[in-house]
Amino acid sequence: MSSFDENDAFEGASLSARAMAALRPEADYLNELNPAQREAVELLDGPILMLAGAGTGKTKALTTRIAHLLNTGRARPNEILAVTFTNKAAREMKERVGRLLGQPAEGMPWLGTFHSICVKLLRRHAELAGLKSNFTILDTDDQLRLLKQLVQAANIDDKRWPARMLAGIIDDWKNRALTPDKVPTADAGAYNNKGVELYAQYQTRLRELNAVDFGDLLLHMVTIFQTHPDVLEQYQRWFRYILVDEYQDTNIAQYLWLRLLAGGHKNICCVGDDDQSIYGWRGAEVGNILRFEKDFPGAHVVRLEQNYRSTPHILAAASNVIRGNESRLGKELWTDKPGGEKVRLIGHWDGEEEARWIGEEIDAMQGGTRGVRPMNLDEIAILVRASHQMRAFEDRFLTIGLPYKVIGGPRFYERMEIRDAMAYFRLVVSPEDDLAFERIVNTPKRGLGDKAQQTIQRTAREHGVSLVQGARIAVEQGLIKGKGGAALRELVEGLARWNAMTRGPRIEIEDDAVIDDGSAPVRYGPPEVSHIELAQIVLDESGYTAHWQNDKTPEAPGRLENLKELVNQLDNFENLQGFLEHVSLVMDNEQDSGGPKVSIMTLHAAKGLEFPAVFLPGWEDGLFPSQRSMDETGLKGLEEERRLAYVGITRAEEVCTISFAANRRVFGQWQNAMPSRFIDELPEDHVEVLTPPGLYGGGQMSAGIETRAAQANVYNSPGWKRMQARQGQYGMSQPRESRNTVIDATALASFTLGERVFHQKFGYGGVVGIEGDKVEVEFDKAGTKKVVAQYLSAKDDVPF
Ligand code: ATP
Ligand code: MG
Repeated sequence: MSSFDENDAFEGASLSARAMAALRPEADYLNELNPAQREAVELLDGPILMLAGAGTGKTKALTTRIAHLLNTGRARPNEILAVTFTNKAAREMKERVGRLLGQPAEGMPWLGTFHSICVKLLRRHAELAGLKSNFTILDTDDQLRLLKQLVQAANIDDKRWPARMLAGIIDDWKNRALTPDKVPTADAGAYNNKGVELYAQYQTRLRELNAVDFGDLLLHMVTIFQTHPDVLEQYQRWFRYILVDEYQDTNIAQYLWLRLLAGGHKNICCVGDDDQSIYGWRGAEVGNILRFEKDFPGAHVVRLEQNYRSTPHILAAASNVIRGNESRLGKELWTDKPGGEKVRLIGHWDGEEEARWIGEEIDAMQGGTRGVRPMNLDEIAILVRASHQMRAFEDRFLTIGLPYKVIGGPRFYERMEIRDAMAYFRLVVSPEDDLAFERIVNTPKRGLGDKAQQTIQRTAREHGVSLVQGARIAVEQGLIKGKGGAALRELVEGLARWNAMTRGPRIEIEDDAVIDDGSAPVRYGPPEVSHIELAQIVLDESGYTAHWQNDKTPEAPGRLENLKELVNQLDNFENLQGFLEHVSLVMDNEQDSGGPKVSIMTLHAAKGLEFPAVFLPGWEDGLFPSQRSMDETGLKGLEEERRLAYVGITRAEEVCTISFAANRRVFGQWQNAMPSRFIDELPEDHVEVLTPPGLYGGGQMSAGIETRAAQANVYNSPGWKRMQARQGQYGMSQPRESRNTVIDATALASFTLGERVFHQKFGYGGVVGIEGDKVEVEFDKAGTKKVVAQYLSAKDDVPF
């Protein structure tokens, strides 16, 4: 956070006379606009709302408006307040303004995100919030530590009422611009009736520490503006023009902040699309955009209907999907672009195959053998619903050497929770891994602060042993007292226990195996617990899973999903060690060539962006629309998911490919997935259902996509065929023998393909075929056998 350019943005930031003289003739950039956009650019005074669908040129008009304000001398660069949603969008906007003006847009200190702008403002007025101007900005960890102290001091059982829950509640209040004294009585029961009181204490404590959290940045500024009219007036005068992109995703605090600042001159231009409101889960209020005309009477409303981004097929697909939402204004878009390709739809056997296929498609697109023209990697994006989906693509692309970048977040193996989990695995496999130990010794928090960690380090050094050993000695000698000491003992014992589980019982060596020097080699039998189960045990018993389960921040569920995905992936390896080696190899493989790369990002991060070719994988019910968001907010959640689908499709300019898999692995177990209900909402005339190449000569399949018939295509996928070949029972001649056959048979035997099972005699294995009451199982150790179902138990039923 300290990297913000906090130079005094009000001084010396005007365009020089020379620069003014070099500006572009305005006709140039105005001519690039249609009449409605032009209106939005040229009507410089008074409130303007541009409410229009995706790709209609809202951002373009907004950017041109900034250029026009500068070019006509209406405002100096530092008198323009321009807010966008991400730092990336802010950078792009600055570049676009520069291009329009024909020179870099310098000195625009107030073009940025809400947070970056508010930090600057709050530094100038810190004292009005009871802070010093050098206040620190707490990250979520610090924030939580602080809350925990308060919760403990209040004698609240933080097992029942986790501090993370309180953190979530406070964030929510801050998003709604509610200081402790303003929390409505309806919320008084929050956090076991103690929420408001603790919130007040928390704010006091922050002040004492001269610190703020993220939510405070806006909250403090709103409060200052509300309570110090003189300060507000100063900024109302200073920010002569206000522009806001993606207005549909502002929360209440941001909305109030804008309304206060624009309250004087009302030169505010907001642009957005109610159909693209996708941050409801973080407090965004689509109502903000719908009430604009009420807030700013006489506002000029500009509607744009021509889409300049996508082909007619892509646009039709997006429009048809979003039509399923009831709560929307309803806008029709049109384009005069030529036909282009239909939206492509394809089903796969599983997620790995989906990744493999997309990798091949991208290669083919690059080579010009697929799609309308040869594409550069920079022109291609993969947009996923959940970040854990990225893992399959990253692994695949690393393997085939396809350059990629992850936008808006770290790559899978670089994520905090993945690194933490891997550190545990590393320690289990090799207890000498001191770096891994340092990473997890106090993660989750075990009350082992700097002092305790120094004691461990010192003990290890003195005895010339690893940190784990040092920790064990420190525990035995009682060098670390209290809760921390007890927790450390638990960790050390856990590590020893888990390490022992990587192998089976010791095998006594017969005499003739004794080596000359008298030392018998130590041999162990096969482990009794699979490495997948072990991984799960380690994450659970170490308290790491619970650490995120108790976390009530919006990121926590995603982190838990990433951890699941990590465990899933272990299925592809023989043991933990093999997996760890794989990761270090793939991570080592990639070097930044600086050349073009495929972009991988979440749908949320893709807002406002556009790419000639877009892949939208994982369109399966439960994944997309996400089960969690439907469970939490019902129809509202489903509609937000549908808007995400709309955002996704409308990122594509020329080629849009939607895919789904019939199976996903969850915790190493297969689960059937139904194609997303959004697939049913795609208009058939604009969609081409693909068959993976290599099958039946490739090309098109005639399947209609109504009533989920698209899923039939799964039975043509290589994975399905592989399965059939192995089962040898459904016969290749009936590729469309539908999954129902399997489901019926499964009902008989009550097992599913891919399921992990246990047999008294043969041990663990995975189901590869089902025939009546017989189940074919590929046993881990005993090979493939057909066994009678009643002698099998589902893995979960097996007592440990
Ligand atoms: P989103 O809702 O996805 O943010 P948007 O409404 O902001 O979309 P822009 O990104 O501004 O749309 O524009 C979409 C594309 O159309 C861009 O490539 C832009 O350059 C182009 N475009 C916009 N207006 C025009 C125009 N009048 N003539 C030609 N191209 C245009
Ligand atoms: Mg835009």
